[in-house]
Amino acid sequence: MSYPLEPDREQMAGLGQAAVEFVANFIGNLESAPANGLRAGESLDDLMMDAPQDSPSDFDVLLKTFGEAAGNAVETAGPRYAAYIPGGGLFTSALADFLARGVNRYTGLSGLAPGLVAMEESVIRWACDQFRLPAAAGGLVTSGGSLSTLAALVAARHHHLGEDFADGTLYITAHTHHCVAKAARIAGFPGARVRIVPVTDDLRLDVAAAARMISADRALGLRPFFLVASAGTTDTGTVDPITEIAQVTARENLWLHVDGAYGGFFQFTERGRAALAGIDRADSIVVDPHKSLFLPYGTGILLVRDTGLLRGAYFGEGHGHYQQDAAGGQVLPDYSALGPELTREFRGLRLWLPLHLHGVGAFRDALDEKLDLAAHAYADLAADARLQLPWKPDLSTVVFGLAGGDDDANRRFLDRINASGKAFLSSTRIRGRIVLRLCILSHRIHHGHLEQVLDVIHAAAREVPDLSRAAETCGAGGRRLG
Ligand SMILES: *Cc1c(COP(=O)(O)O)cnc(C)c1O
Repeated sequence: MSYPLEPDREQMAGLGQAAVEFVANFIGNLESAPANGLRAGESLDDLMMDAPQDSPSDFDVLLKTFGEAAGNAVETAGPRYAAYIPGGGLFTSALADFLARGVNRYTGLSGLAPGLVAMEESVIRWACDQFRLPAAAGGLVTSGGSLSTLAALVAARHHHLGEDFADGTLYITAHTHHCVAKAARIAGFPGARVRIVPVTDDLRLDVAAAARMISADRALGLRPFFLVASAGTTDTGTVDPITEIAQVTARENLWLHVDGAYGGFFQFTERGRAALAGIDRADSIVVDPHKSLFLPYGTGILLVRDTGLLRGAYFGEGHGHYQQDAAGGQVLPDYSALGPELTREFRGLRLWLPLHLHGVGAFRDALDEKLDLAAHAYADLAADARLQLPWKPDLSTVVFGLAGGDDDANRRFLDRINASGKAFLSSTRIRGRIVLRLCILSHRIHHGHLEQVLDVIHAAAREVPDLSRAAETCGAGGRRLG
């Protein structure tokens, strides 16, 4: 069969139907799919695909190849995936992408597709309202948290430091996501300008220490300008004391950046709003819909308190002369003037469609469910004397380790859990020691799945005999990692 670059209606319908059926089957099978589908022992030759040929190939054959490649993966979309930061991937968001790409509108400048830019802007405005940002607030839909962070940092640098910024300093903790240090490097700050503020025993930014460091840097003639508060660290889901931090940044005239890439959308829930109190004082907020709104990978949001500061940083050169006919009016923003991208995907619909179709309440309920599940997981694991849980979860991430277990034991513990094929978890290091993480965030994980995951964890803790022996000698039930 041959496929012209412009298939006819019948062909389009056939291709589309096959693709939708593929995805429906794929998602329908997630319930029974192994938590890890990675095929071991394959060489690069086995993995590398054939180069495209001059002659056409059959769609069914290509779809089968795609299916095999997609199957050779950790099941990040599945209900037993609690590693890193899960997202899941909403079918309706994927469908929105198909629609958006089907009409292929240009949304870098609002004048070419004002209707679609308005759709995207309605989501940005709604997100600003969720965080009670003022009327001048606005933002951008980006490809993810890292790019949102970079866009915010450059705006802050431009606003606070101008063009000669070598004396600028920024403040993070050891648990701030590494994308901030990466953004600092891309934005031209040497590593020594990134200050690591100590954390308190409960892993939160030590506000008094931050204030002292800022004063000391100023006394050295440096220009402190940017401080990051985590609204849920990736390591442990811990929320920094944003209200107290905001008092320091206001007094010291620093840009307060809140990293809510993981935890930001818990703002929908009552418990989340309590945990994130003070977030309305932020100069910029990063949230990642591909995490806590369950969207497929590739969608982040940057919100800023004053949209004018984004325009100030990114619109210095103005539009190109060749674009003079396409810029929008006063009502809608030209997104290319607010960030580094010119041509961009129309990302708005992948948010707009699920939010309207399911209703915001569906997302609130799902996030509330994750908080309930995390509280349950914490209580359940804490009741196992073989385990220790040094920190209670603020949000939906539970960290734990073998009581008295060293790094090697905990590494084997994790391998044991993941080898079950019934759960997939990951680990991190806190104060130099390995701990396991159970991050409950996928919209697909429910109570029954969590029970299976917890069973696997208890069994693994029991099954590794030398590990249990280590636990006995070190006093089982200890709540502190040594
Ligand atoms: C995931 C994450 C990031 C980075 O976001 P990407 O979308 O992966 O680029 C930043 N901060 C936190 C807290 C995160 O969890």
